[in-house]
Amino acid sequence: MRELELLQTLRPLWIDRASQVMARGVLLREDFTSQLERFYSLLEQAVETGDPAWLDSILASWESSHTQTDLEDDSGSLTSFIAAITRITAQTAREALAPSEALDLLTAVTPCFTYAFEKSAHLEIQTRVNYVSDRLEQVQQTLEKLDRSKSDFIAVAAHELKTPLTLVEGYASMLRESLERKTTDPTESVLINGIHNGTRRLQTIINDMIDVSLIDNNLLSLNFQPTWLNRLFTVLYDELKQVARERNLRLEFKPFPGSSDLMFADSERLLQVFRNILTNAVKYTPDGGSIIVDGRKLPGFLEITFADTGIGIEQDETFLIFEKFSRPRTSNPSLHSSGKTKFKGGGPGLGLHIAKGIIESHGGTIWVESPGYDEHACPGSTFHVLLPVRSEPPDNRMARLFAPLSNQSPLEDTPKTQ
Ligand code: ADP
Repeated sequence: MRELELLQTLRPLWIDRASQVMARGVLLREDFTSQLERFYSLLEQAVETGDPAWLDSILASWESSHTQTDLEDDSGSLTSFIAAITRITAQTAREALAPSEALDLLTAVTPCFTYAFEKSAHLEIQTRVNYVSDRLEQVQQTLEKLDRSKSDFIAVAAHELKTPLTLVEGYASMLRESLERKTTDPTESVLINGIHNGTRRLQTIINDMIDVSLIDNNLLSLNFQPTWLNRLFTVLYDELKQVARERNLRLEFKPFPGSSDLMFADSERLLQVFRNILTNAVKYTPDGGSIIVDGRKLPGFLEITFADTGIGIEQDETFLIFEKFSRPRTSNPSLHSSGKTKFKGGGPGLGLHIAKGIIESHGGTIWVESPGYDEHACPGSTFHVLLPVRSEPPDNRMARLFAPLSNQSPLEDTPKTQ
């Protein structure tokens, strides 16, 4: 076969030239000449058999010899290496062979080089994709580690703060009792009440931080009990009616089908959710506005709505506000924790994250709808809570305990309005 003989004739010059030109290439650092010899032998096989796949093994081994640095600085690509080999083949053929022989040889090797290009490009893309997905995985692991340490920090800090705070609260109560017996000085009771209120606020924040770490670590356990939503609403109404009066807010709990039915839920936790939503409604509704709690019965679910006539929420932030420590663009950081019921009183940004965690642990969903944020027009916001109705106790022990309740008739429903 004439082309094969021509290839063999060209071999010494080709190896010599390729070694000189590419010796500083990054792909092949050791036994460079023997690698070129091997490539040339495989090229001869490919030409002889007409099957360029003979080059597969060496191309794969060259591609896999890419180092991390090559990939990071994007140097030493296999395709540019094949391009150099193709150039050297054409040059050496022109120098060492007669023009017609050079043409014959190049015609014979061109399909092999074309194949090598395609194969190299394919291998290169695959290597790069693997490299990028490895990097992504590393980044994801780092992020997860960071998130874990953030949660751990919150949990440890909250627990560490809780103990001394309980001591402060205990001593403050003792001091108050002792002062009440000994003195009638009003300044002293103002001071002691200040300590008492401060510690209570701090305790609420610490309990919220503990709840966040329970939710984030999937450790929130629910204590299912017989629950009537209208009873929870009565508790909340009693808690908030004074504030509503002071702020001239109309606070109304409408009875709705299902609100007086017995269901099994963690009533303490639900109370916490509704309280968070309602204190926000109070905080973000200007004096003279209204807050209406209503709902409806859906197959297997109850939907409870909390509609206020407050400042509203930017549409693109209706998801963000359920993230922990969320700070909507429109919130003023200087107002953070400036009060629990004051207009735009601000807070640490944990309430809705906790509400979401609790509702989702019940198998429900929480979301908000608002036309947008406008402090003057006050378009309002409506929070929706979709709660699955568990009419049966979650386990047999509970079933035995609460059996007498199953026969109880629904509790009477009265609208509560401030
Ligand atoms: P915060 O402690 O800041 O109140 P939350 O998690 O309870 O934290 O609420 C997150 C943010 O959602 C609030 O800072 C506020 O910007 C926005 N938000 C919540 N409820 C309302 C509402 N009813 N009207 C307008 N904005 C609200």
